[in-house]
Amino acid sequence: MNFLYFDNNASTRVLPQVMQAMQPWFCEQYGNPSSSHPLGQFSKQALLSARKAVAGFLNAKPNELVFTSGATESNHMAILGALATDPTRKKIVTSVVEHSSTLLLLDHLAMQGIEVVRVPVDGNGTLDLACLEQAVTADTALVTLMHANNETGVVFPIKQAAAIAHSQGALFHTDAAQTAGKITLDVCQLDCDLLSFSGHKLHAPKGVGVLFARRGAGIPALIHGHQERHQRGGTENLPGIVGLGVACRLAEQYLVGGTDRTASLRDRLERELLQRIPFARINGAGPRVSNTTSLCFSGCSGEELLHSLGQAGVMASQGSACTADGTEPSHVLQAMGLSRHDALASIRFSLSRETNEAEIEVLLQSTIAITRRMISLPVAA
Ligand code: PMP
Repeated sequence: MNFLYFDNNASTRVLPQVMQAMQPWFCEQYGNPSSSHPLGQFSKQALLSARKAVAGFLNAKPNELVFTSGATESNHMAILGALATDPTRKKIVTSVVEHSSTLLLLDHLAMQGIEVVRVPVDGNGTLDLACLEQAVTADTALVTLMHANNETGVVFPIKQAAAIAHSQGALFHTDAAQTAGKITLDVCQLDCDLLSFSGHKLHAPKGVGVLFARRGAGIPALIHGHQERHQRGGTENLPGIVGLGVACRLAEQYLVGGTDRTASLRDRLERELLQRIPFARINGAGPRVSNTTSLCFSGCSGEELLHSLGQAGVMASQGSACTADGTEPSHVLQAMGLSRHDALASIRFSLSRETNEAEIEVLLQSTIAITRRMISLPVAA
């Protein structure tokens, strides 16, 4: 099938170099890294070298990483772990626009008596730092905030938020699923205690991710077993971890200049869509990751637009793939003040480092033609 892929915030293509690096660890070098025989020891070495690569990518120490199944698990480990570190602190502070993997866990914890405070955002999707400062108190166990929003790409001021958390003795966690491979991540510079991301958002496979847990953060295991220094039991997903290590190295190369290329493609897309579609506008402003645009085509049905784009071979999405059934408006866009109608008229295009001018051209032509037809405007105005 010939298609154009603009849903890279949902998942990315595994890069050929990543696939090639993973290959031997399925059928040839399939030893368990915990086995003492040579095949097991080869696997252990591969695990060590991937751990070093990912640690370098985050400016962390190798023994501060726990390999997980992805950001959902890492977020759970960070949140539940932070609560377990100090039983006198029973409050978690977060934002209203977090990913469902955080929000649904927090809903569950709230039912069990944990106080959860959700800090609002403004019309641009920017975090209300004054409100965050008020919300964080001496009984706060953790402040957990996404680094960039998966729907709008808006980047939160993580360093300032971490300082607010630390001023009250709380731990600070960031969900970096949408910034890994798009912004240089430096856990020292960000001053976070905990950081999560998933491999499949940066061209590694699905089912592998990381939790960075600063030494001394004291996060206990969720899954017990001897692996990962007793922090996460279960035989390691070695091919996935090897792939993640290579993907992090490739992302480091892309981050030197590559994000500017992506931003200029995204900016051209936005500029021309706004010029040709008078009822279109961008959701979110201020610092944004380079690959994401969320657009509201007022008066159109986002669901129908996606369907028509899909028929034209263009893959996009209405927002989070994890909640996307098209009938419920996005909680992110509504938190930014969009009406239910405008939220349902919005769609997200997310580019990758592989996106090129020719693909942007086709996307422009299809979107302009479909939306203008939907709203009964002549296609070629
Ligand atoms: N957090 C954010 C911001 C995300 O975008 C996603 C993936 N949509 C996740 C967490 C969860 O990642 P995974 O499904 O790989 O566990």
